[in-house]
Amino acid sequence: MSLTLKIARSGERLAQLLVQAGIQNHQVLEAIARVPREAFVQPALTHKAYENTALPIGKGQTISQPAIVARMTEIILEHNGSQNQVLEIGTGCGYQTAVLAQLADRVCTVERIASLQFQAKRVLRQLDLHNINFKHGDGWKGWSSKAPFEAIIVTAAAASLPTKLLEQLTDGGIMVIPIGTEEQVLKKIIRTGDDYQITDVANVKFVPLVAGDTE
Ligand code: SAH
Repeated sequence: MSLTLKIARSGERLAQLLVQAGIQNHQVLEAIARVPREAFVQPALTHKAYENTALPIGKGQTISQPAIVARMTEIILEHNGSQNQVLEIGTGCGYQTAVLAQLADRVCTVERIASLQFQAKRVLRQLDLHNINFKHGDGWKGWSSKAPFEAIIVTAAAASLPTKLLEQLTDGGIMVIPIGTEEQVLKKIIRTGDDYQITDVANVKFVPLVAGDTE
């Protein structure tokens, strides 16, 4: 069996696992099936790449659990079927970025650890995903020169709500963000004018959204 075929089948098996985990959106499941998650994990962990678990990626960070990547993506698609421009905070290895890049016209992604960003850029280019802009910087500040965004996905847990990100949503835009330290809750926030409607989605476990300067 050729390598691409093997990868596609592994991705499809992962998508099947996510159906069992409650993911329903077909566009999201197809995106998960297409993205070779093994390209984003360390070589020693490729045998676990298509399991529904978070894995270490170095620098004390992780590749998110596929079910949470899929759920966060599903939430923004449920709100607004077509996404022109999405902002991701916490590129990490770039897996969530790759899933978003299948579904949005453009993905802007911010990471504070330069070496992770460098590696993510390399993998995403190898996968021929070119609708992505990368920024090395502090995610609390968002990306004001590219704003506004129809959707913002934060993939690290913030101790409090980052106000700069709220300002960078379009009117009608949506943000999904884990809030908390020990206990974390995934929140869905919808902007209407200067109003922000906040809903709790689920208890989650993310690495922290680090405050302050970049490394
Ligand atoms: N999106 C990734 C998840 C990576 S883990 C995936 O698909 O697997 C979260 C990432 O957020 C880490 O790489 C971490 O370095 C980054 N991060 C933490 N605090 C940050 C901040 N203030 N600004 C930008 N990135 C941050």
